[in-house]
Amino acid sequence: MFTYDAPQDLLSGRIILVTGAGDGIGKAAAHAYAAHGATVILLGRTLEKLEQVYDELEAEGYPQPAIVPMNLETAAEHDYIELTNQLEETFGRLDGILHNASILGVRTSLESYDPIIWQQVMQVNVNAPFLLTQTLMPLLRRSDDASVIFTSSGVGRKGRAHWGAYAVSKFATEGMAQVMADELENISSVRVNCINPGATRTAMRAYAYPAEAPETNPTPEQIMPVYLYLMGSDSSKVNGQSLDAQGDGAA
Ligand code: NDP
Repeated sequence: MFTYDAPQDLLSGRIILVTGAGDGIGKAAAHAYAAHGATVILLGRTLEKLEQVYDELEAEGYPQPAIVPMNLETAAEHDYIELTNQLEETFGRLDGILHNASILGVRTSLESYDPIIWQQVMQVNVNAPFLLTQTLMPLLRRSDDASVIFTSSGVGRKGRAHWGAYAVSKFATEGMAQVMADELENISSVRVNCINPGATRTAMRAYAYPAEAPETNPTPEQIMPVYLYLMGSDSSKVNGQSLDAQGDGAA
């Protein structure tokens, strides 16, 4: 497991957007970031889940979060612009984005892959994070220390049969993060990295591996150290890397 002991005030005063914040790893990250002082913007497609997380953060006495209901499969340019305008008006800047929302698509060969599902997976997993980051870049550039984190996967580093568009989307994610990181290196205070969570006890994992006993995998809460490390100032010099949540520690 990646080990990192985050100071309690690691993210104090920071404004951080988390996509897919209503469930699984994104929900745990929203909690972890808020617990370390961040104002978290909860983006997702199921309003009730976002409201539940909102209530939990408020009950803990963390900084008041914000909710952005958005379906990344159907969001259009004007939705991203509207979000940017809202964030600019409310916060004036953005200190981090965790691109966490993804869909699995179907598990079948590329030969028989449904082209419509292919497009859906690419839209949610690749195109939406690209559009969101591009639109929000002016707000990220206003931060002294902004961190953009994309979510990868083991199948985004080595292709595996029957992982289809999901695997290809994760290769694209790794590539997008590398290109963006290289472009921003030395010319801005925005850094860009990837996290590969590894097998984690969520709905997506259960769907992908129905025969597996869920308790064999760590919970989302247990893999949070790398998510905190890459979002906070201890990683301010780290750019263009792809880290494993269940790999070696920061030290
Ligand atoms: P979950 O399916 O448990 O959660 C995904 C979240 O993304 C949900 O909150 C979901 O919303 C949201 N989401 C999905 N589609 C959209 C959309 N169109 N618009 C907005 N939000 C959307 O997944 P995990 O927590 O397991 O995965 C999180 C990330 O980690 C993903 O990028 C995944 O690829 C990656 N990953 C996970 C692994 C694992 O073992 N769990 C292993 C390797 C990588 P809703 O709740 O409304 O459905």
